[in-house]
Amino acid sequence: MKWQGRRGSNNVEDRRGMGGGKMVFGGGIGGVVILLLVALLGGNPGELLNSMQGMTGTESSAPYEETAKEKEQAEFVSVVLADTEEVWKEVFEKKGMQYREPKLVLYTGSVQSACGAASSAVGPFYCPGDQKLYIDLSFYDELQSKFEAPGDFAMAYVIAHEVGHHVQTLEGTMDKLAPLRQKLSEQEYNKYQVRLELQADYYAGVWAHHAKGMDILEEGDLEEALNAATAVGDDTLQKKGQGYVVPESFTHGTSAQRKRWFYKGFKTGKMEQGDTFKAGKL
Ligand SMILES: [Zn+2]
Repeated sequence: MKWQGRRGSNNVEDRRGMGGGKMVFGGGIGGVVILLLVALLGGNPGELLNSMQGMTGTESSAPYEETAKEKEQAEFVSVVLADTEEVWKEVFEKKGMQYREPKLVLYTGSVQSACGAASSAVGPFYCPGDQKLYIDLSFYDELQSKFEAPGDFAMAYVIAHEVGHHVQTLEGTMDKLAPLRQKLSEQEYNKYQVRLELQADYYAGVWAHHAKGMDILEEGDLEEALNAATAVGDDTLQKKGQGYVVPESFTHGTSAQRKRWFYKGFKTGKMEQGDTFKAGKL
């Protein structure tokens, strides 16, 4: 991706080195299970994190000393966020809607959000409660090593996916889904959760479509994003993690589905064709 020397976003909130404090899980084992659910490109609606208790921490006043690599990664994230602002502002305007830009919080280790406390183990996430994205830059390396999805555009996809959840929040989709969580069994709710996640992938693709139009994509970028979308599919992760697949427990969709919806968004560039809730085949 051509990102160097380009405009960064004003919406980055740097909380690195502040320490989120000690994390206390409300639900014992339950809390741990929830944490696992949130993990892996979670970006989940707030309720999951809500069940974790707040934390008591002290903030250090010393400024965070970033390495040259971290500085570059932070700049990259900021440029990608700025690109998403540009694209979604335009897309929303065309629909007669107004895009409210989300904030992006950089943190190290653990962080406090309106959705509760979280550690970097959950991966990047979006909290609808405060409309902020939370990213520990160490995920950039994890993407390459653990998920085997290298490349800057793989990381751009991750950011664009979380921004996709912000778009869903502005559209009111998050609010519509929230009551279902109380009403349905976990297994039933997961089906909605998968559609929510696939739509976020679709929106990431819509963004990538416009990024291509802005001439900031390089050779191999699309493949990096498709590879990343494939790498974080529930079936692939479960096979890797436990050796077998439990489809009822899927929360994000299979590798094939994630790749397909991202690519569909990339092809069309239009929000309208991303209604995963109405789609017969995912
Ligand atoms: Zn997500």
